[in-house]
Amino acid sequence: MKVVLASSEAVPFAKTGGLADVAAALPKALGAAGHDVWLVLPYYRQLSGPLESTIHPTDVEFPIELGSKSVQARVFRSSLPETDVPVLLIDQPDYFDRPGLYQQDGHDYDDNCERFLFFSRSVLEAVARFEIRPDIVHANDWQTGIIPALLKIEYQETPEFSSTSSVFTIHNMAFQGSFWHWDMLLTGLDWKYFNWRQMEFFGNMNLLKTGIVFSDMVTTVSPTYAQEIQTPEFGCGLNGVLRGRGDSLVGILNGVDTAIWNPATDPHITENYDVNSYKTGKSVCKDHLQQAVSLPRRSDVPLFGMISRMTDQKGFDLIAGCAEDVLQEDLQFVFLGTGDSHYEEILKSLGDRYTDKVAAVIGFDEMLAHQIEASCDIYLMPSRFEPCGLNQMYSLAYGTVPLVHAVGGLADSVIDATTENIAAGHANGLSFNEYSPEQLAHQIRRAITLYHDESAWPQLVSTGMSRDWSWNQSATDYLAVYERALHSREAASQSL
Ligand code: ADP
Repeated sequence: MKVVLASSEAVPFAKTGGLADVAAALPKALGAAGHDVWLVLPYYRQLSGPLESTIHPTDVEFPIELGSKSVQARVFRSSLPETDVPVLLIDQPDYFDRPGLYQQDGHDYDDNCERFLFFSRSVLEAVARFEIRPDIVHANDWQTGIIPALLKIEYQETPEFSSTSSVFTIHNMAFQGSFWHWDMLLTGLDWKYFNWRQMEFFGNMNLLKTGIVFSDMVTTVSPTYAQEIQTPEFGCGLNGVLRGRGDSLVGILNGVDTAIWNPATDPHITENYDVNSYKTGKSVCKDHLQQAVSLPRRSDVPLFGMISRMTDQKGFDLIAGCAEDVLQEDLQFVFLGTGDSHYEEILKSLGDRYTDKVAAVIGFDEMLAHQIEASCDIYLMPSRFEPCGLNQMYSLAYGTVPLVHAVGGLADSVIDATTENIAAGHANGLSFNEYSPEQLAHQIRRAITLYHDESAWPQLVSTGMSRDWSWNQSATDYLAVYERALHSREAASQSL
């Protein structure tokens, strides 16, 4: 199968969240399984650093028409580290040579619509010029949501895309790329597509909706989230559109990139370990982390960790609501993240007032993220909603027992430590349904009790560590979706 994956971020090139992990891990897994996969990304300023030596110019350049403007795109080439997966980087300094990927100082760039329409069209133009002739173009999130529409309306008429189907993956319904209607002019598409069944949503042009409507298959990043987003509570207004896709909407749980997140080989952690050696390994890591973040060096205290965007989505309202209560217990917290200044301030203040119990690191720090995964006993993820979530899976792989709100991918990966589940050897964490600070406080206390239970705790840890969290299964599931996308397009063209 020949696949082009278009994404606005991918590790190690650029990352703000889980999309970046997925956009690198899926091509790697497909490439390893013998498929011909290409990744296309914007060439951000952030790349003019350590990765620069791996990036080479090509002689491919072309103009992109955006309304009355013509903007030049240049293509650079690289590859995903330690793989043969080619990466095409779309260069246009006016759009991508900026301090942030999507925003600066907490404010989205005013021209985000233009930037990513430019990128999306450039993906197709570059794919045509490299003569890839893909079976599948796989677009991700609103930034590339126009691609399935461009394919269907314009490009499938051209020889380079005559047998190409599109797949669109929703990583988070909360980010929709909703822009004022005049931005339709930048798409180059006819106004007739600006209607409530296709690109229009409450008077705006909506790029997430566009991707959902025009793609041959739609996926999202967990089976539970695929169900949830068809309801008003989680659908962010697009639940009806999603229901309209019927069984061509599929939920596939992300995997873990085991080349990056594996406690047995992770170069960022103090001591490597596996399921047989986690007790010593984790305690060495814990001691080092406690020292690094200035918490008392105690092996007997349950250490809770969290690495996250600090937003309402991630349950910081619950943490803020129960922190003073649970801090009466004998426990420690380490928080790493950036986000809403309101939450950053609350956590900093907890760190200042409870110096022997709370370490709050405000920032984005990949190495510390790995150390937290390896060192903590319990990982907190009380998200209000969670399409897939990666950190709970990293935690399971690292023997760090996750405590989660049972939504989306959290419900699909964490099995609660009920007496029955423990007895059956299935339990790997703690999960709860009622979204309230009182319930989170209750679960934190429950985790402390379990942590001191010498029979139950090792079982939870080893059940999580023993399961294969790699991308093998997810990549197989994506291939099945690609096959369905190919067939649905063939069937559609035969019926014409
Ligand atoms: P989302 O994509 O909604 O932010 P995910 O759980 O899917 O959440 O993925 C978040 C990814 O970003 C994880 O790999 C996590 O470790 C990483 N991450 C989030 N915040 C930070 C941070 N402050 N420092 C380092 N890594 C972070």
